[in-house]
Amino acid sequence: MSTEPRLTDTHVHVSLTPDPVPFARGAMQAGVRLVSPSVSISDSRRNVALARELGYLAMVGEHPWYAGDDPGLGDLAALAQDDMVVGIGECGLDARRGLPLEGQVQRLEAQLSLAAELGLPVSLHVRGWHNELLSCLRRYHGRISGVLHGFVFSRDLARRYLDEGLILGLGHLTPCQGRRLREAVPYAGAGRIVLETDLAQGAASYPVDLLERILGAAAGLLGMAAVELGPRLERNFLRVFLREVG
Ligand SMILES: [Zn+2]
Repeated sequence: MSTEPRLTDTHVHVSLTPDPVPFARGAMQAGVRLVSPSVSISDSRRNVALARELGYLAMVGEHPWYAGDDPGLGDLAALAQDDMVVGIGECGLDARRGLPLEGQVQRLEAQLSLAAELGLPVSLHVRGWHNELLSCLRRYHGRISGVLHGFVFSRDLARRYLDEGLILGLGHLTPCQGRRLREAVPYAGAGRIVLETDLAQGAASYPVDLLERILGAAAGLLGMAAVELGPRLERNFLRVFLREVG
């Protein structure tokens, strides 16, 4: 017998954890649904196979730090059509690590094109190159949805990403980001945020208490009770990732 999940961790690298089986099962038994992005083509293959075995949801894609695993992005398009795949990612731009900008843009745009073609949301990583990422998104305006993952930025950047049709993924840094998030999160509002832990290597078992703390911090920034915010965020997840309306 399975119960409906009460919360979703929209960005957690299950396939990179030391032992994905107890990690995923522990989360699901605690009522947490997992969405696991991939970082490379080989990780995408492994992630989809594990998702099928364990019943979590996967995203397939190439992170800017891992570019070059396969120059042509291999069988990403075929992997993206698996029943357990709900999005494309983790992809994006990173000014501090990876290929020069032009190479990163080319690989990102290949993934944005695939997401637009298949009608799948994206999970986007960004460090530094906000203007460059926003330029890419503008070229796909109206055809891309998804999450700006690990959002710790200003209200102005929140506005610009929200205007491109994204919502904000709030993670474990939330309580430490102070003034910027006190402005950006209420600007986005309860209808345009989701939760994530971004856990990967080193996480032996799923820490439900961490996700609860992120929920509590987000609720505090919005002046709401966590019990009230949880179901709102679940609806955001269903709308953006599973395209359920209501
Ligand atoms: Zn990640």
